[in-house]
Amino acid sequence: MTRIFDNPADFADDALDGFVAANRGYVARVDGGVVRSTEVPTGQVALVVGGGSGHYPAFAGLVGPGLATASACGNMFASPAAGQVYRVAKAANAGGGVLLSYGNYAGDVLHFGQAQLRLNAEGIETRTVTVTDDIASAPLDQIEKRRGIAGDLTVFKIAGAAAEAGLDLDAVERLAIKTNYRTRSLGVAFDGCTLPGASDPLFHVPAGQMSLGLGIHGEPGISEHKMPTASELAELLVSKLLNDKPDDAGNRVVAIVNGLGTVKYDELFLLFGKIDKLLGKAGLTVVEPGCGELVTSLDMSGLSLTLLWLDEELEQYWAAPADTPAFRKGNLAPRPPRNQASVTAVDESDVEQPTEAAAELGRQAVAVLAQVRDVVVEHEGELGKLDAIAGDGDHGIGMRRGVEAAFTAAETAIGASVGRILTAAGEAWSERAGGTSGALWGSAIIAAGQALGNKAGYSGEDAAAAVTGFVDAITELGKAEPGDKTMVDALLPYRDAFLTEFDAGAPVDRALAAAAAAAESAAAETARLRPLKGRARPLAEKSLGHPDPGAVSFGLITARISQHIDAQLGGSQPALPAGNGVQA
Ligand code: ADP
Ligand code: MG
Repeated sequence: MTRIFDNPADFADDALDGFVAANRGYVARVDGGVVRSTEVPTGQVALVVGGGSGHYPAFAGLVGPGLATASACGNMFASPAAGQVYRVAKAANAGGGVLLSYGNYAGDVLHFGQAQLRLNAEGIETRTVTVTDDIASAPLDQIEKRRGIAGDLTVFKIAGAAAEAGLDLDAVERLAIKTNYRTRSLGVAFDGCTLPGASDPLFHVPAGQMSLGLGIHGEPGISEHKMPTASELAELLVSKLLNDKPDDAGNRVVAIVNGLGTVKYDELFLLFGKIDKLLGKAGLTVVEPGCGELVTSLDMSGLSLTLLWLDEELEQYWAAPADTPAFRKGNLAPRPPRNQASVTAVDESDVEQPTEAAAELGRQAVAVLAQVRDVVVEHEGELGKLDAIAGDGDHGIGMRRGVEAAFTAAETAIGASVGRILTAAGEAWSERAGGTSGALWGSAIIAAGQALGNKAGYSGEDAAAAVTGFVDAITELGKAEPGDKTMVDALLPYRDAFLTEFDAGAPVDRALAAAAAAAESAAAETARLRPLKGRARPLAEKSLGHPDPGAVSFGLITARISQHIDAQLGGSQPALPAGNGVQA
């Protein structure tokens, strides 16, 4: 249970504020996360880590000399939005370039990826190394698809030490890639965790059972076991990891037993003792190990074992000193506080003169968003359940957070052009929702807004451009193919049906209705597909027979939009303009 909060929606932000207050000698708050409050030498590579909140000390607890320069902190279990990552990286940059490093989750990849594009476009050289240590999440020959769990620490630690030693961006990146390649983890869970404000845990493990390979957001495990003894558990974890060891593994390893939230330290130590002996028997020398909470999952009952196979240079950087709120090693000379003036950023947006048509269309867009919000709220529970079958169960709450924020932002912007309004809505959606769908919906709404802009008048062509822009943003960012079992399987039929009707001369409302019908039936048909992208992929079999949650929500939303537009027209009025008509 998570008990201590005022408003559960503010949990992550409020907890982060308190963390900064308690650790002000280490970190300062910036919009989107935290940055070191101590001096960063000019020219030092900035290591920017991050991810969803709820995993303390990942990620903000790992910010300090010898480790991360800054952390972008998302909502509970949800990726930080691209804008947050961008602002945190700007504040962290000391002129030596930026290395973004985070666990390999689709939402994080989307948001950090968008931020990287923006930073590079501004001349701040930025690279990315995603952490893929969780051997339960994909086979060894698809290592790049694996998720990141407690192996985050080894990768961040070695990259941070390399940056501290003054290595350049190429060298820091190379060491991070190598560390990730040589790090393996495997976790087990004994019981679920509860998001703030939720009355039930995200999942349960039956009493007396243990789930092997369960993810840090409750992604279902790969097998269920009767609760083993400590010795059996140690044997299971060690043998699975040794079976998966990297090709050029030597015999010196870092071993880390990580508690996921509610396993006592005594129990972790007990298990560590057994593991240490087994590793010794296997001919391995354990070097500067760790045992404690390093990547948690709220109040989840569970733990993981991480092994990093060292070589000479990795060992040097692993052993180097670091001083952060949650991770300390060796001695580092105290750092002077950072000049606060350098911890700034934020773009001022220019002033626009909205046209009458653009302001009016903006108002209509706000009314449409109100409908989208209503339909999402009505189906929140159902979407969450659908996502829990093979994903992490957050699709309902994520969509709701996103659309509520989008509606509020749009409503506040009434009077601006439709372009401005939808951009504000998309940014808010992406920022609040987190998750893959949040990033995709946010970017898609921004793209639709850019297509509509601030024009003197609007025709059906503009509606077609908005639909196309919306769909293209999602396929470009998410890179899902038809048949991967994602919302793309409903989006493409939607766009195609719209364009077919529209090109044949149908008015916009008819084209939208035909498109919504196509999206809904395509969404239902995804039930026969196996997911090939996103969080549901590792549990593909469980997903068979159930439609994709993102496709279902898209179908529901498009149907509601079409009904709303029909109702606006009173059923009988002349429809919205076809091809080249001009909308009032
Ligand atoms: P998360 O997967 O981060 O938990 P959600 O649960 O809110 O986010 O959304 C899951 C949905 O996102 C999936 O059902 C799928 O439709 C969609 N999705 C996942 N990955 C992609 C992708 N690469 N491209 C398009 N849609 C995707
Ligand atoms: Mg999900």
